[in-house]
Amino acid sequence: MTDRKDELAANLAKVERRIADACAAAGRARDEVTLIVVTKTYPASDVRILAELGVRHVAENRDQDAAPKAAACSDLPLTWHFVGQLQTNKVRSVVGYADFVQSVDRSKLVTALSKEAARTGRELGCLIQVALDAGESARGERGGVAPGGIGELADLVAAAPGLRLDGLMTVAPLTGEYAGRERAAFERLVVLSTDLRRSHPAATMVSAGMSTDLEQAVAAGATHVRVGSAVLGVRPRLG
Ligand SMILES: *Cc1c(COP(=O)(O)O)cnc(C)c1O
Repeated sequence: MTDRKDELAANLAKVERRIADACAAAGRARDEVTLIVVTKTYPASDVRILAELGVRHVAENRDQDAAPKAAACSDLPLTWHFVGQLQTNKVRSVVGYADFVQSVDRSKLVTALSKEAARTGRELGCLIQVALDAGESARGERGGVAPGGIGELADLVAAAPGLRLDGLMTVAPLTGEYAGRERAAFERLVVLSTDLRRSHPAATMVSAGMSTDLEQAVAAGATHVRVGSAVLGVRPRLG
């Protein structure tokens, strides 16, 4: 194996162990939690190595980086998740490679995604990004809709041609009542997911937890964790 492959294999094994331990501690089966590796800022060659090591879900947050990377990796058996703030002028590109958009947070974006998915005959999985640091009806600093806005947006996604409502996503807030309380934030997301499933029973995905807080997310009931730096290394720049 190359040095990089050794390094990624070792990091993946550590993350896998953490997820397995967190599942065991929570009395959950390991297969209730899916690992998504966030490959942002890292090259397509790393994505290829990850696929060889058995990774099946990858995530990106900027279309400029993701589009060429996904194109270079289109022969690999990967599911691509888009997890960044998404401008409507990038929708055409993103729908070209993404299987899931986890950062749906406003009606204008729903309309644009639906139009493009329908035009290309694709079905796009959508998660509503919830901002737990926003006021009840505002939008979060880093994207996301406040809890009070989930219902309306969910109905819109569910009714939109080409879109499938799959669940909720959040990023642990840095400010507000949940700052520094990742476990409580993720438990709140799970409660919101339970509410959502009363009207949308198939929206079962709960995407929460990153490199530093995946244990709290698994404990709270997350179905998907999004791990970047613990697998690939600390990113040189914020990304
Ligand atoms: C970068 C990113 C992650 C992964 O963060 P790490 O701390 O590197 O694990 C997860 N989710 C989103 C939305 C991200 O932008």
